[in-house]
Amino acid sequence: MANDLSVTFWGVRGSIACAGPEYVRYGGNTSCLEVVAGGRRLIFDAGTGIRKLGLGLCAAAARMEEIDIFFTHTHFDHICGLTFFAPLYVEDRKVRLWAGHLLPEHTIVDVVKHVMAAPLHPVSLDVFTADVQFNDFTCGDTLHPAPGVVVRTARLNHPNGATGYRVEHGGRSICYITDTEHDGVAPDASIVGLCRDADVMIYDSTYSDAQYPAYRGWGHSTWQEAIRVGDTANVGTVAIFHHDPAHDDAWMDRVAAEVTAMRPGIAANGLPRVLVAREGTTLRP
Ligand SMILES: [Zn+2]
Ligand SMILES: [Zn+2]
Repeated sequence: MANDLSVTFWGVRGSIACAGPEYVRYGGNTSCLEVVAGGRRLIFDAGTGIRKLGLGLCAAAARMEEIDIFFTHTHFDHICGLTFFAPLYVEDRKVRLWAGHLLPEHTIVDVVKHVMAAPLHPVSLDVFTADVQFNDFTCGDTLHPAPGVVVRTARLNHPNGATGYRVEHGGRSICYITDTEHDGVAPDASIVGLCRDADVMIYDSTYSDAQYPAYRGWGHSTWQEAIRVGDTANVGTVAIFHHDPAHDDAWMDRVAAEVTAMRPGIAANGLPRVLVAREGTTLRP
């Protein structure tokens, strides 16, 4: 327990949730990760995947539990599940929301108030009965959300800003890099720096290199770039993430085959050197 570190994928889809038989194997919920480190629960992004995670957390423990939710950014696919996160409606829970991309123009409490207001939403954030705290930081800050858990951050290249994260605990590390656009020349130096020698790097792989030119400026990257960044940063396992809603299970199977051919084998952490993130799976590097 003391040195536990894991990440569970509750939502792997980018842009908009998608349902249907063609999405059952990789999943249709938008971005949400659950990292457990040193017995503490850190959630990254509040896409639609956070709803099911929250239901499980309410069923699991009656005791006071502190939960931290870190936003990469507040585009709708990353925040639309927040008001459906059940622990926000449990009185003995403490939930801290963190964002690093908003200052100085905005704050995270203002963004949540804005989303939870007429005519977008029927009730305001007063409806939360948990002890909810709002924490703004600046990309590049290092955070210490719990004893022995370090969260490093870096700025990503995305419209309206976004924050990349690296969670360190017990000598291991998991990086979460979405949403971000590469420059097509060389891997982003600040991302490479943040992810250097990480055990796992979860990376925005919305497009292929072939598709990308049609979407330049939209703020997303490719699965080939994920491999290039992972190799440059000496990452153990690269996880392909933020799947485009147009890419169904059959498409993602082809992506999995392609990236596995590019980066075959098993990493020192015991996981494949590359994998395609699937909703419901847990990685323990
Ligand atoms: Zn997104
Ligand atoms: Zn975005």
